[in-house]
Amino acid sequence: MTKLTTRASSINRALDQIGDKWCLLIIQEVFWGISTFGEMKAATGVSKGVLSDRLKWLVSIDCLHKEQATASTRRPGYYLTEKSAELYASAMMAVTWERKYFSTPALDAVTLVHQRCGQAFKPQMHCGSCDEAIKVWDVSYKPGPGARQDERDKKVRRRSSISLEHVPSQRSLYKNLINIVGDRWTSNLISLSFHGLKRFDEINKELPVATNILADRLKFLVNEGIFEPKPYQERPVRYEYHLSDKGKDLFPWFLTLLQWGDKWCDSDGNGKPMKLTHTKCNKGLVGLVQCSECGETLDPREVSFDFGD
Ligand SMILES: [Zn+2]
Ligand SMILES: [Zn+2]
Repeated sequence: MTKLTTRASSINRALDQIGDKWCLLIIQEVFWGISTFGEMKAATGVSKGVLSDRLKWLVSIDCLHKEQATASTRRPGYYLTEKSAELYASAMMAVTWERKYFSTPALDAVTLVHQRCGQAFKPQMHCGSCDEAIKVWDVSYKPGPGARQDERDKKVRRRSSISLEHVPSQRSLYKNLINIVGDRWTSNLISLSFHGLKRFDEINKELPVATNILADRLKFLVNEGIFEPKPYQERPVRYEYHLSDKGKDLFPWFLTLLQWGDKWCDSDGNGKPMKLTHTKCNKGLVGLVQCSECGETLDPREVSFDFGD
Protein backbone atom coordinates (compact mmCIF):
# COMPACT_ATOMS: atom_id res chain seq x y z
CA MET A 1 0.00 0.00 0.00
CA THR A 2 1.50 3.31 -1.05
CA LYS A 3 -1.29 5.63 0.11
CA LEU A 4 -2.50 6.51 3.56
CA THR A 5 -5.76 8.24 4.36
CA THR A 6 -5.97 10.49 7.40
CA ARG A 7 -8.17 13.33 8.61
CA ALA A 8 -7.19 16.56 6.81
CA SER A 9 -4.81 18.55 8.97
CA SER A 10 -2.72 21.56 8.11
CA ILE A 11 0.00 20.32 10.45
CA ASN A 12 0.28 17.04 8.56
CA ARG A 13 0.21 18.84 5.22
CA ALA A 14 2.97 21.17 6.34
CA LEU A 15 4.99 18.28 7.73
CA ASP A 16 4.55 16.24 4.56
CA GLN A 17 6.06 19.17 2.68
CA ILE A 18 8.91 20.33 4.91
CA GLY A 19 8.90 18.08 8.01
CA ASP A 20 11.65 15.76 6.87
CA LYS A 21 14.91 16.08 8.88
CA TRP A 22 17.00 17.24 5.97
CA CYS A 23 14.44 19.67 4.66
CA LEU A 24 14.19 21.26 8.11
CA LEU A 25 17.97 21.51 8.36
CA ILE A 26 18.33 22.97 4.88
CA ILE A 27 15.68 25.62 5.51
CA GLN A 28 17.42 26.58 8.74
CA GLU A 29 20.73 27.02 6.94
CA VAL A 30 19.06 29.17 4.29
CA PHE A 31 17.71 31.37 7.09
CA TRP A 32 21.32 31.94 8.20
CA GLY A 33 22.32 32.98 4.70
CA ILE A 34 23.76 29.71 3.37
CA SER A 35 22.86 29.43 -0.31
CA THR A 36 25.21 27.40 -2.48
CA PHE A 37 25.19 23.64 -2.89
CA GLY A 38 28.75 23.44 -1.54
CA GLU A 39 27.94 25.45 1.58
CA MET A 40 24.87 23.36 2.25
CA LYS A 41 26.77 20.15 1.81
CA ALA A 42 29.42 21.34 4.26
CA ALA A 43 26.80 22.49 6.77
CA THR A 44 24.60 19.40 6.70
CA GLY A 45 27.22 16.74 6.04
CA VAL A 46 24.84 14.69 3.87
CA SER A 47 25.73 13.04 0.60
CA LYS A 48 25.31 14.85 -2.71
CA GLY A 49 22.49 12.50 -3.62
CA VAL A 50 20.42 13.19 -0.51
CA LEU A 51 21.10 16.92 -0.68
CA SER A 52 20.13 17.28 -4.32
CA ASP A 53 17.04 15.15 -3.74
CA ARG A 54 15.85 17.51 -0.97
CA LEU A 55 16.79 20.68 -2.84
CA LYS A 56 14.86 19.51 -5.87
CA TRP A 57 11.89 18.75 -3.67
CA LEU A 58 12.01 22.12 -1.88
CA VAL A 59 12.19 23.93 -5.23
CA SER A 60 9.23 21.87 -6.54
CA ILE A 61 7.02 22.95 -3.61
CA ASP A 62 8.13 26.58 -3.95
CA CYS A 63 10.05 26.64 -0.66
CA LEU A 64 13.33 27.41 -2.38
CA HIS A 65 14.06 29.51 -5.38
CA LYS A 66 17.05 28.55 -7.49
CA GLU A 67 19.10 31.32 -9.01
CA GLN A 68 21.59 30.75 -11.77
CA ALA A 69 25.00 32.36 -11.79
CA THR A 70 24.06 34.75 -14.55
CA ALA A 71 20.73 35.86 -13.16
CA SER A 72 21.92 38.72 -10.97
CA THR A 73 24.74 39.95 -8.84
CA ARG A 74 23.69 37.49 -6.15
CA ARG A 75 25.62 34.29 -5.86
CA PRO A 76 24.10 31.33 -7.65
CA GLY A 77 22.27 29.13 -5.23
CA TYR A 78 19.07 28.54 -3.32
CA TYR A 79 17.09 31.30 -1.70
CA LEU A 80 14.02 31.68 0.45
CA THR A 81 10.68 32.23 -1.24
CA GLU A 82 7.73 34.13 0.20
CA LYS A 83 6.37 30.76 1.32
CA SER A 84 9.48 29.55 3.15
CA ALA A 85 10.27 32.99 4.59
CA GLU A 86 7.07 32.60 6.59
CA LEU A 87 8.54 29.58 8.36
CA TYR A 88 10.46 32.13 10.40
CA ALA A 89 7.91 32.05 13.23
CA SER A 90 8.37 28.31 13.40
CA ALA A 91 12.17 28.64 13.57
CA MET A 92 11.77 31.13 16.42
CA MET A 93 9.58 28.77 18.45
CA ALA A 94 11.99 25.90 17.74
CA VAL A 95 14.85 27.94 19.23
CA THR A 96 12.81 28.71 22.36
CA TRP A 97 11.97 25.04 22.89
CA GLU A 98 15.52 23.86 22.25
CA ARG A 99 16.97 26.37 24.72
CA LYS A 100 14.59 25.28 27.42
CA TYR A 101 15.47 21.60 27.14
CA PHE A 102 18.99 21.40 25.76
CA SER A 103 22.23 23.12 26.46
CA THR A 104 25.15 22.99 24.05
CA PRO A 105 28.08 25.42 23.81
CA ALA A 106 27.02 26.49 20.29
CA LEU A 107 23.44 27.07 21.33
CA ASP A 108 24.31 28.82 24.60
CA ALA A 109 26.67 31.21 22.82
CA VAL A 110 23.90 32.61 20.62
CA THR A 111 22.08 35.75 21.63
CA LEU A 112 18.91 36.87 19.90
CA VAL A 113 18.55 40.63 19.90
CA HIS A 114 15.34 42.45 19.11
CA GLN A 115 16.53 45.59 17.43
CA ARG A 116 13.26 47.35 17.97
CA CYS A 117 13.70 47.38 21.76
CA GLY A 118 17.43 46.72 21.80
CA GLN A 119 17.11 43.78 24.22
CA ALA A 120 18.28 40.20 24.22
CA PHE A 121 15.01 38.29 24.11
CA LYS A 122 13.20 35.01 23.97
CA PRO A 123 10.54 34.39 21.30
CA GLN A 124 7.17 33.63 22.91
CA MET A 125 3.81 32.75 21.48
CA HIS A 126 0.79 34.79 22.46
CA CYS A 127 -2.86 34.90 21.43
CA GLY A 128 -3.53 37.64 18.88
CA SER A 129 -6.83 38.47 20.61
CA CYS A 130 -6.25 38.39 24.37
CA ASP A 131 -2.44 38.51 24.37
CA GLU A 132 -2.10 35.61 26.83
CA ALA A 133 0.62 33.02 26.37
CA ILE A 134 -0.87 30.05 24.49
CA LYS A 135 -0.97 26.74 26.35
CA VAL A 136 -1.71 23.41 24.77
CA TRP A 137 -4.93 22.69 26.71
CA ASP A 138 -6.40 26.18 26.16
CA VAL A 139 -7.25 25.38 22.56
CA SER A 140 -10.39 23.72 21.20
CA TYR A 141 -10.84 22.25 17.74
CA LYS A 142 -13.84 22.18 15.43
CA PRO A 143 -14.10 21.03 11.83
CA GLY A 144 -13.48 23.90 9.43
CA PRO A 145 -14.70 24.36 5.86
CA GLY A 146 -11.88 22.15 4.56
CA ALA A 147 -12.60 19.23 6.93
CA ARG A 148 -12.33 15.98 5.01
CA GLN A 149 -9.89 13.13 4.46
CA ASP A 150 -6.46 13.57 2.92
CA GLU A 151 -4.85 10.89 0.82
CA ARG A 152 -1.15 10.96 1.60
CA ASP A 153 1.88 9.40 0.02
CA LYS A 154 3.52 6.73 2.11
CA LYS A 155 6.67 6.91 0.08
CA VAL A 156 9.83 7.40 2.08
CA ARG A 157 12.41 9.74 0.63
CA ARG A 158 15.98 8.80 0.10
CA ARG A 159 17.57 8.34 3.48
CA SER A 160 20.90 9.51 4.76
CA SER A 161 23.24 7.41 6.84
CA ILE A 162 24.46 10.41 8.80
CA SER A 163 22.84 10.97 12.19
CA LEU A 164 21.82 14.41 13.33
CA GLU A 165 24.38 14.60 16.12
CA HIS A 166 27.08 14.44 13.46
CA VAL A 167 25.73 17.32 11.44
CA PRO A 168 28.73 19.66 11.24
CA SER A 169 26.90 23.00 11.19
CA GLN A 170 27.63 25.17 14.24
CA ARG A 171 24.45 27.08 13.57
CA SER A 172 21.91 24.32 13.91
CA LEU A 173 20.03 25.90 16.75
CA TYR A 174 17.32 23.29 17.02
CA LYS A 175 18.97 20.03 16.06
CA ASN A 176 17.35 18.14 18.91
CA LEU A 177 13.91 19.33 17.96
CA ILE A 178 14.53 18.26 14.38
CA ASN A 179 15.73 14.88 15.58
CA ILE A 180 12.46 14.36 17.46
CA VAL A 181 9.98 15.70 14.93
CA GLY A 182 11.88 15.05 11.70
CA ASP A 183 10.25 11.71 11.07
CA ARG A 184 6.74 12.06 9.79
CA TRP A 185 5.22 9.48 12.11
CA THR A 186 6.71 10.87 15.31
CA SER A 187 5.46 14.35 14.49
CA ASN A 188 2.06 12.98 13.53
CA LEU A 189 1.88 11.18 16.88
CA ILE A 190 2.72 14.33 18.80
CA SER A 191 0.11 16.31 16.93
CA LEU A 192 -2.53 13.66 17.71
CA SER A 193 -1.65 13.91 21.38
CA PHE A 194 -2.52 17.63 21.28
CA HIS A 195 -6.05 16.47 20.43
CA GLY A 196 -6.08 14.35 23.56
CA LEU A 197 -5.41 10.94 22.02
CA LYS A 198 -3.48 8.69 24.41
CA ARG A 199 -4.16 5.04 23.69
CA PHE A 200 -2.57 2.88 21.05
CA ASP A 201 -5.85 1.83 19.44
CA GLU A 202 -7.30 5.32 19.17
CA ILE A 203 -4.00 6.62 17.82
CA ASN A 204 -3.79 3.79 15.31
CA LYS A 205 -7.34 4.50 14.15
CA GLU A 206 -6.37 8.08 13.25
CA LEU A 207 -2.97 7.13 11.93
CA PRO A 208 -3.37 3.76 10.24
CA VAL A 209 0.28 2.81 9.79
CA ALA A 210 1.68 -0.63 10.62
CA THR A 211 1.47 -1.35 14.35
CA ASN A 212 5.19 -2.15 14.61
CA ILE A 213 6.01 1.29 13.19
CA LEU A 214 3.65 2.91 15.65
CA ALA A 215 5.06 0.97 18.60
CA ASP A 216 8.59 1.86 17.56
CA ARG A 217 7.84 5.59 17.31
CA LEU A 218 5.97 5.62 20.63
CA LYS A 219 8.95 4.00 22.29
CA PHE A 220 11.26 6.59 20.73
CA LEU A 221 9.09 9.44 22.02
CA VAL A 222 9.03 7.90 25.51
CA ASN A 223 12.84 7.62 25.44
CA GLU A 224 13.10 11.24 24.35
CA GLY A 225 10.92 12.32 27.27
CA ILE A 226 8.05 13.61 25.11
CA PHE A 227 5.51 11.01 26.26
CA GLU A 228 5.10 9.53 29.73
CA PRO A 229 3.58 6.06 29.68
CA LYS A 230 0.94 5.43 32.35
CA PRO A 231 -0.70 2.01 32.73
CA TYR A 232 -4.48 2.09 32.45
CA GLN A 233 -5.06 -1.65 32.44
CA GLU A 234 -3.43 -4.73 33.93
CA ARG A 235 -3.18 -8.27 32.51
CA PRO A 236 -2.21 -7.54 29.87
CA VAL A 237 -0.77 -4.25 30.95
CA ARG A 238 -1.57 -1.42 28.55
CA TYR A 239 -0.33 2.13 28.58
CA GLU A 240 -1.63 5.56 27.82
CA TYR A 241 0.86 8.01 26.42
CA HIS A 242 0.63 11.34 28.20
CA LEU A 243 2.47 14.44 27.07
CA SER A 244 5.26 15.51 29.40
CA ASP A 245 6.00 19.22 29.92
CA LYS A 246 8.70 18.85 27.31
CA GLY A 247 6.08 17.49 24.92
CA LYS A 248 3.48 20.13 25.76
CA ASP A 249 6.04 22.84 25.13
CA LEU A 250 6.30 21.68 21.51
CA PHE A 251 2.79 22.97 20.94
CA PRO A 252 3.77 26.51 19.84
CA TRP A 253 6.10 25.05 17.23
CA PHE A 254 3.31 22.86 15.88
CA LEU A 255 0.90 25.79 15.94
CA THR A 256 3.22 27.86 13.75
CA LEU A 257 3.24 24.97 11.28
CA LEU A 258 -0.53 24.63 11.40
CA GLN A 259 -0.92 28.32 10.62
CA TRP A 260 1.62 28.04 7.84
CA GLY A 261 -0.13 24.97 6.44
CA ASP A 262 -3.52 26.75 6.54
CA LYS A 263 -2.07 29.45 4.36
CA TRP A 264 0.32 27.58 2.09
CA CYS A 265 -0.78 23.97 1.90
CA ASP A 266 -4.47 24.28 1.04
CA SER A 267 -3.98 23.17 -2.54
CA ASP A 268 -7.71 22.58 -3.15
CA GLY A 269 -8.71 25.95 -1.76
CA ASN A 270 -11.35 24.45 0.55
CA GLY A 271 -10.28 26.48 3.55
CA LYS A 272 -9.03 25.43 6.95
CA PRO A 273 -9.56 21.77 7.84
CA MET A 274 -9.84 22.75 11.50
CA LYS A 275 -10.99 25.84 13.33
CA LEU A 276 -9.08 26.55 16.50
CA THR A 277 -10.49 28.57 19.36
CA HIS A 278 -8.53 30.02 22.24
CA THR A 279 -10.73 29.00 25.14
CA LYS A 280 -9.30 31.74 27.38
CA CYS A 281 -10.95 34.43 25.26
CA ASN A 282 -13.27 32.40 23.01
CA LYS A 283 -11.86 33.95 19.88
CA GLY A 284 -10.49 32.24 16.80
CA LEU A 285 -6.90 31.38 17.63
CA VAL A 286 -4.13 33.29 15.94
CA GLY A 287 -0.77 32.61 17.55
CA LEU A 288 1.69 35.47 17.26
CA VAL A 289 5.38 35.15 18.02
CA GLN A 290 6.46 38.03 20.20
CA CYS A 291 9.49 39.48 21.93
CA SER A 292 9.63 38.50 25.61
CA GLU A 293 10.95 41.95 26.53
CA CYS A 294 8.73 44.46 24.73
CA GLY A 295 5.83 42.24 23.67
CA GLU A 296 5.89 43.31 20.04
CA THR A 297 5.26 40.77 17.29
CA LEU A 298 8.58 39.79 15.75
CA ASP A 299 9.52 40.91 12.28
CA PRO A 300 12.48 38.93 10.86
CA ARG A 301 14.12 42.16 9.75
CA GLU A 302 14.23 43.37 13.36
CA VAL A 303 15.91 40.30 14.84
CA SER A 304 19.64 39.76 14.87
CA PHE A 305 21.56 36.69 15.90
CA ASP A 306 24.84 37.13 17.69
CA PHE A 307 26.66 33.80 17.36
CA GLY A 308 29.32 34.92 19.81
CA ASP A 309 32.15 34.32 17.34
ZN1 LIG B 1 -6.98 34.54 23.51
ZN1 LIG C 1 11.53 43.63 21.94
